[in-house]
Amino acid sequence: MPSPVKPPAGRLAIVGIGPGKREHMTARALKVIAGSEYVIGNDSYLDPLLPVLTGKTVIRSSMGKEVERATQAIELARSHAVAIISGGDAGVYGMASIVLEVLEHTGAEIDVEVIPGVTAANAAASVVGSPLSGDFAVISLSDLLTPLEEIERRLDAVFSVRIPVVLYNPKSRGRPHNFAIAVEHARRHLSGDTPLAIVKNALRDDGGEVIITTLCEVETYNDAIDMHTTVIIGGGESRIWRMGEDVKGIITPRGYHHKYVY
Ligand code: SAH
Repeated sequence: MPSPVKPPAGRLAIVGIGPGKREHMTARALKVIAGSEYVIGNDSYLDPLLPVLTGKTVIRSSMGKEVERATQAIELARSHAVAIISGGDAGVYGMASIVLEVLEHTGAEIDVEVIPGVTAANAAASVVGSPLSGDFAVISLSDLLTPLEEIERRLDAVFSVRIPVVLYNPKSRGRPHNFAIAVEHARRHLSGDTPLAIVKNALRDDGGEVIITTLCEVETYNDAIDMHTTVIIGGGESRIWRMGEDVKGIITPRGYHHKYVY
């Protein structure tokens, strides 16, 4: 008797590809994409990957279609090697949770791997010195999936403990006022001279843009903030970092100065 033909085993990789430049992707992310038959992702994330996508079936999706994308990836991964792409880290406002939730719901048993990437907080911090040296918080100002009242409660809580705060999705055409609301919350707990960094397109091929300012002067730069921007608001101990006359970024001391002389 011939043995029954088994369908080929598939696998699903949920891949964080970092902030944009290929050299900031992990070796694991590149290797898994190279070994995939299908690569699924948002247009803007797939473009920088084009050189490694030759010979693969590329499925382009768009913002707002995350549930469909997750469902399609899982269906294909039953019998193919599939990579679903997320910008930055897949587990930070990325595709990992929705893919795992849909997978759990389908009851399918598939080989799944979540591959971490450099998230926007780390990418943005790296181009302005060391603003997030110890404890810090990350808040997204997008109210598409979280009500604004809840976001405001979280903002107030994290600013009240005066740690550096990273703001993702600070502004878009659909919600132009959320950034101003966040600044208002910050000012309740932090002084006006608290340093603030506006970092646009960090570590992307088309070059980035950095503005270092303070909490009391940030309105001057309102137009520079959009959905490609990450904003870092310093904590109670953060200060501007200078080299000669030049403002280079922000330093949040880790506390070595309490123990050592340097
Ligand atoms: N999963 C992604 C975050 C997605 S939310 C990650 O881990 O980075 C999208 C938000 O991330 C944007 O609105 C912006 O605030 C931030 N972002 C992503 N890439 C960025 C980059 N290269 N430079 C600055 N901000 C970035």
